[in-house]
Amino acid sequence: MKAVFFQQHGGLDVLRYGDIPAPSPGEGEVLVKVEACGLNHLDLWMRQGLPGIKIPMPHISGSEVVGTVYAAPANGFQKGQRVLVAPGISCSTCSACSAGRESLCQKFRIVGLQTNGGYAEYMSVPARNLIPLGDKFKPEEWAAVPLVFLTAWHMLITRGQLKAGESVLIQGGGSGIGSAALQIAKLAGAGVFTTVGSEKKARKAKLLGADWVINHTKADVVKEVLKKTDQQGVDLVFEHVGPATWNGSIRCLKKGGRLVTCGATTGPKVELDLRFFFTKELTVMGAYMGSRYELDRVLALIEEGRLKPVVDTVFMLKEAPRAQKMMEERNFFGKIVLKI
Ligand SMILES: [Zn+2]
Repeated sequence: MKAVFFQQHGGLDVLRYGDIPAPSPGEGEVLVKVEACGLNHLDLWMRQGLPGIKIPMPHISGSEVVGTVYAAPANGFQKGQRVLVAPGISCSTCSACSAGRESLCQKFRIVGLQTNGGYAEYMSVPARNLIPLGDKFKPEEWAAVPLVFLTAWHMLITRGQLKAGESVLIQGGGSGIGSAALQIAKLAGAGVFTTVGSEKKARKAKLLGADWVINHTKADVVKEVLKKTDQQGVDLVFEHVGPATWNGSIRCLKKGGRLVTCGATTGPKVELDLRFFFTKELTVMGAYMGSRYELDRVLALIEEGRLKPVVDTVFMLKEAPRAQKMMEERNFFGKIVLKI
């Protein structure tokens, strides 16, 4: 089968497009013919190499996958049926899984991270990870949904407990996860601040429903947020950027405020001024993807048209290096998707 893969960690030049043997499904698995695969920052991290995570080579990235059932149909699925691949694989029997907190399972893995993913014509996935899809959107649009909307929902609603009438700051509203978070926060009835890096992105963020959009290349984010909240700050900050935004994110929190983070796109380490932290009784939370229950909830809202996939550019599979370059340069709004 055709695939984009890498045999060693490194820059864009380690990505190869070529033939590789198609996987054969193991017990309880189904072979999916991939139609579209959304790009995610995880793909860049995995290509560059993450300390502590060893993967078999060659590796195929791609965590946000839509395709059709090709072989070994099971659980009532028919060959040719369109499916979305739930991006989290867990044991389904431990206490974390039973509590609906699959990402805390000792055996938790992310499709395309610790397994081969969707930058390929075929991939093998556990049958229980398949979710039937309707025709409301094209495969390239559905592929802009799973990991980002699930993670954003888990962060804002489950971990962050965002309520109607509260205020939230979404850092990086033009990213895949940011554009999902904007919509979820509006749906929750919150007042939404967001930051973007250009006027073009600012217009798009407004169209998605952000109430206050701050271009961080032109304005001081902390000053703007404090000015518009009567110097109080916001109830919740949505973080995924890391060191480049961290101090500002903490300073934008009101007394008793919460911060939830799922990522570190600008680096892994931040500082925390403990005096500020305890006197304001702040809460800082981590979030790692989310549960199948939350994914089903998000997909239902997308079916109902209350949330929508945001696709910036669709590339063909062999253009994956160009697609990843675009992601590295942050020159996009929403999701970059590969058509297989
Ligand atoms: Zn488990």
